[in-house]
Amino acid sequence: MSAPKYSRPYELPPLGHNPSSAQQGTTPGSFANPPQLGGPLAFSSPDTPGMPAPSEKTAWDFMPPDWTHGADGAWQPPRGFVPVTQLEHARLGIVTREMRRVAEREPHLTPEQVRDEVAAGRMVIPANKQHLLFRLDPMAIGRASKTKVNANMGASPIASSTDEEVEKLRWAERWGADTVMDLSTGGDLDATRAAIVQASTVPIGTVPIYSMIIGRKIEELDERVVLESLEQQARQGVDYFTIHAGVLREHLPFVRERLIGIVSRGGSLLAKWMLVHRRQNLMYEIWDEICQVMRRHDVTFSIGDGLRPGGLADASDEAQLRELATLGELTERAWRHGVQVMVEGPGHVPFDQIEYNMKLQRRLCHGAPFYVLGPLVTDVFPGYDHITSCIGATAAAYHGAAMLCYVTPKEHLGLPKRDDVKQGCVAYKIAAHAADVALGIPGARDRDDELTKARAALNWERHFELSFDPDLARAYHDEDLDVDTDFCAMCGHDWCSVRISKEIQEFSSGKSAEYAWDKPKVTAALTPDQRSILEQRGVLSPAEIHRLASKTKARMGAEAGEKAACHSDFVDDEKARRLQEERLAGESAAADR
Ligand code: SF4
Repeated sequence: MSAPKYSRPYELPPLGHNPSSAQQGTTPGSFANPPQLGGPLAFSSPDTPGMPAPSEKTAWDFMPPDWTHGADGAWQPPRGFVPVTQLEHARLGIVTREMRRVAEREPHLTPEQVRDEVAAGRMVIPANKQHLLFRLDPMAIGRASKTKVNANMGASPIASSTDEEVEKLRWAERWGADTVMDLSTGGDLDATRAAIVQASTVPIGTVPIYSMIIGRKIEELDERVVLESLEQQARQGVDYFTIHAGVLREHLPFVRERLIGIVSRGGSLLAKWMLVHRRQNLMYEIWDEICQVMRRHDVTFSIGDGLRPGGLADASDEAQLRELATLGELTERAWRHGVQVMVEGPGHVPFDQIEYNMKLQRRLCHGAPFYVLGPLVTDVFPGYDHITSCIGATAAAYHGAAMLCYVTPKEHLGLPKRDDVKQGCVAYKIAAHAADVALGIPGARDRDDELTKARAALNWERHFELSFDPDLARAYHDEDLDVDTDFCAMCGHDWCSVRISKEIQEFSSGKSAEYAWDKPKVTAALTPDQRSILEQRGVLSPAEIHRLASKTKARMGAEAGEKAACHSDFVDDEKARRLQEERLAGESAAADR
């Protein structure tokens, strides 16, 4: 049956790219701008009227003063120059091993495109020379690549230890963190940092001012302490440093009327330093010396936004945006030193202001990757700020942010524990992935499409294999019905629209040959992880969980092809419905008791 022909009562917007590798399903495609790799609009959202245009400049406009144009017009370094950073290699047209690895991990990019994006300053590969000698697997951050997620961790003076932090690192990597920041302010900072760098496969970032003031007051901070601390952390292998050099003395009057002042630790410490010494921000004053340390080890800047808003009422204010302009100036100066740069952003921003914030940064910082914290789009859900912020993070990534710093349910409340790290990572993987699909990054939707086909075919095993958290999905399914059959306990047999669609002959739904299955199957015993998920939910009795965790297919007779009496649901539809009704009725009766 072909689709009926009639005039459409609607117009689709100009279409971007198909985010899937194949044309399948019925969606017309991404509504983002068509991809423009090699320019500032690589993968970008259409502009709401009034948004700032991209900068016409790139890192090529901020070359070291001693580089000159050769006879062929190409940039030439001074005689005897040896490239150190990824940016310097890219400027010389060299494709490094790390650029090749990035392209391998992101097949929509060639190694040459990675090099060109790095040269333009729109992409960074945070890969300290020292860390590359350990276990670092190089990755890239930039709007031409997929959206990345950072997980913060770190011991505080009252909680956690080095072992616990390394364990959290492994946990964050397991749940998809692309980089990890060690924000320790307590315990043995050096040992924790060294252990994290050596154990990690992902780039590690730090906020070095934290270790600079251990054992001294902020007022005692001076140039020597700053440069020595940076050198020491760079030697340990830290891949990127957050340095709050953009908070200037002249910005501070704009903070006075804020509801919540300065919420960045680094920003507030440096503001105090400036007020005590009646001097300009020390980090700003010695920026060129800091750049030289960064270059020697190829540490990437993550230029901190010390004046980020800490509540919706302070978003997009003079303090924040004036500082952003300074971050643009610092970006230009770092590029002149051959140092890779990303720029940090807010924070707490009402949903309607997010696009402007992303596009203003793109303009003022000439496309340097934007690394944002959230932003939270409402302030009244403490305990749920992984959700309030991942809503903002999705919008931020769609409108230009290249990396999202996760927020956990413990934000504003305490130090994240293991499960908080997982919740934060998952929330942010959702945000990043949603943005990548929306932006039309080639292949970004492939796994979604495969899962949709498995779901349409009611192929539960494959459905869970393709899901981001298979144990959770399997445990939730088996909590109600431990048989993989052609419905689940949400709607029941008779109301299962997916089963009904699959049965309609003229529909394609559920007919993908690779997901076909012949008969319902008693599910395997719960794994320890799945069992623990159900125990924490507390819905099933311990006896029921024990039964799900201890059963085997053999015991249920499934391997012998026999039908176990307690699973007669897979004999026919009628029995299937009866089993489910009995089970659900039994559970509600137990709950009522
Ligand atoms: S029963 Fe409902 S939720 Fe479950 S597969 Fe069918 S339509 Fe989906």
